[in-house]
Amino acid sequence: MTLESILPIPDVFSAKTVLCVQPHYDDNDIAAGGTFALLKKAGAELIYLTVTDDLMGVVDRSLSAQQAARALERDQLAAGAVIGVDQQIALGYPDAGAYDYFALRRDILKYIRMLKPDIVFAPDPWLTYEAHRDHIQTGLAVAEAAIFLGLLKIASSDPAVDAAYTGHALRGVAFYYTREPNQVIDVAPAWEAKVAALRCYQAQFDPPGLEELLFALDLKSRQAAEGELFERGEPLKVLHPAALHCGL
Ligand SMILES: [Zn+2]
Repeated sequence: MTLESILPIPDVFSAKTVLCVQPHYDDNDIAAGGTFALLKKAGAELIYLTVTDDLMGVVDRSLSAQQAARALERDQLAAGAVIGVDQQIALGYPDAGAYDYFALRRDILKYIRMLKPDIVFAPDPWLTYEAHRDHIQTGLAVAEAAIFLGLLKIASSDPAVDAAYTGHALRGVAFYYTREPNQVIDVAPAWEAKVAALRCYQAQFDPPGLEELLFALDLKSRQAAEGELFERGEPLKVLHPAALHCGL
């Protein structure tokens, strides 16, 4: 028997505050936009935290970095309005670039201690064959922050936040982009909203690229729902923070 097997799977829909940490500006919505739209509908406060500046994937290479950043922000705000995102925070690490993992972990610790979410979402850093370091580092930094939250000797990037933090119950970490889900969310009622949000991401996809993405997601959502009583699913690995260390 493992600790993981006796801990109940945290119920993401019991969350009042949800922090969704993504490496790039569209990952939350690509992986779990339906889940987030449903969480918002259920009354949760939705906060997106984007780790990188995302400048490498911008299709129009004639844009200056400043123009590209504005285009990305325009897309993100439009998509966020569709899903119902309450707050967008950007950390601005260089997309696919060289940055310090521990600096990122300190920033994520800061926002978890400051915002006190009930559930934090992130990419599964243990996804087999994931080559993109931004995804691996983001997921791992969230997982580590979840287990180090109460250890105030492990400083965040903001001493004032650490000084004010008196603890809170983080109920779980929900990993998306996972091959080992322990739950599949019925996102059929939110599928139109998810597609509408993804259509806002125009800086990063040309029209054929966007159609290809939507085709792949359509297929994957149906695959994820196989054997379920619903039509479309988003797979998640949701773990209690205590299940994120030593596999006891
Ligand atoms: Zn990404």
